[in-house]
Amino acid sequence: MKMNLNIKEKLTLSVGLLVCMIVGLVALSTISLQILTATEPDSPTAEYGLNRSLLLIAIFGLVCIMIGVWLLFKLPGSISKPFKELSGSINEIANHNYDVSLLLTGSTEMESLSANFNRMAKRLRDYHNSSVSALMTSKKYLETIINSIDEPIICLDNDLSLLFINNEALSILNIDRTDAMNRSAQEIALRNDLMRRLINGADSDGGKEKKDEPLKIYADNKESYFQVKYLPVRLSNDNGVQTERKGIVVMLKNITEFHKMDVAKTTFISTISHELKTPVSAILMSSQLLTDKRVGKLNDEQQELSDSIKENGERLLSIIGELLNITQVESGKLLLNPIITRPIELIEYAIKANHVQAEKFGINIEIDYPSQKISRLFVDSEKIAWVLTNLLSNAIRYSNEGSRVIIGAKQPDSRHIALYVQDFGKGIDPRYHESIFERYFRVPGTKIQGSGLGLSISRDFVKAHGGTLSINSAPGKGSCFTVTLPI
Ligand code: ADP
Repeated sequence: MKMNLNIKEKLTLSVGLLVCMIVGLVALSTISLQILTATEPDSPTAEYGLNRSLLLIAIFGLVCIMIGVWLLFKLPGSISKPFKELSGSINEIANHNYDVSLLLTGSTEMESLSANFNRMAKRLRDYHNSSVSALMTSKKYLETIINSIDEPIICLDNDLSLLFINNEALSILNIDRTDAMNRSAQEIALRNDLMRRLINGADSDGGKEKKDEPLKIYADNKESYFQVKYLPVRLSNDNGVQTERKGIVVMLKNITEFHKMDVAKTTFISTISHELKTPVSAILMSSQLLTDKRVGKLNDEQQELSDSIKENGERLLSIIGELLNITQVESGKLLLNPIITRPIELIEYAIKANHVQAEKFGINIEIDYPSQKISRLFVDSEKIAWVLTNLLSNAIRYSNEGSRVIIGAKQPDSRHIALYVQDFGKGIDPRYHESIFERYFRVPGTKIQGSGLGLSISRDFVKAHGGTLSINSAPGKGSCFTVTLPI
């Protein structure tokens, strides 16, 4: 027969049993002692009584010891076993194993404990299943939205494992979904050139649009152009503070149509500029002839008009030149004809090209050239001379009348030559230091006429030589533009 006792009852019963046995033992010993003292100690009855008492005490004591030992081994185990089972099951729940069930027997309180525990586990399991299915639904929802976007999107974690990829991305990568999802982007990149190009950019911290060349992709026998954007994924903690980068989203924007339009625009500008160059040169030639004494002497007013035609014609010709340079850069047809050139030759060319303008504004051009030997350059001298001429022209135009401009060269190290143009004019606010190198950008409020193309072309020309064009300028202090070229 199995008794269902609770812990309290078990303890009470055990302690009670022990107390009863001790009391019984003591009573037995006392009774035996009294019997012994009541009779003649040396009589045979007394000896028989003594032996019988000792035997009874020994048997009773042995039984007590056995019960005590049995309780010692059994009682702690029977109390701690259910707690061990409970702790194990709690651990399982903590490890998200909600299928665990507890079966404690032996006491009513243990049975009720396991019934309550199992009910709690079931509730947790139901809750977990419902939240997992809610999560799966929202995941599917998001995947459907992302798949319906007709621009390719790829999400990678920090180890470049694919977290998701939409159908459009699979299509341009020419891989299928099961193939993609079982492999990391790096594995795919081993046999997929496009993926290799995409993950190269994902190594950087991203966050900003890459202004590099658009990505050219050949698919379905046609050329497509994509602009790649890398967006780092940063999760926010409970305080709204963004944690470290968890991954990166690569977004591609199809700009094929814009690219076609851009090519058409470049071709248009190139054709128009070529067509305009001849008549404008003819106008300049005619205005030059007009000032020739053999044609007849001009009165002051006519001379003024002729000067104006010449000045504006030259400006027009320089803008046409700039447009032609732009079309060369944009169409990728920028051809360099490098020759060995001394830096001073480039400086002298720029000064010669600008001396009339400098005189007109009363600007004093100073040359800063090192007295010790300076390395020669291997550059397309026409292009770099054009850059220096443009920088010097800017320095003169944006300076106050009567001020000075320095044009110079130095060798910062054994592998580079720096050519620079410094003025002490109005200077440029630091927030425009990058924008001034963009096409058609002019600092707001600039009154002096210009096209906003010179610096942009200059940077392209210098970059084509593997060099850099940098600015150091502060409002009211003047500007210094430096062209650094490799030797
Ligand atoms: P443009 O001079 O024909 O407008 P640029 O590309 O050469 O075109 O220059 C872009 C803009 O940068 C100019 O409109 C002007 O506002 C500013 N800028 C260029 N050089 C200087 C300079 N030396 N000092 C002050 N501002 C300058």
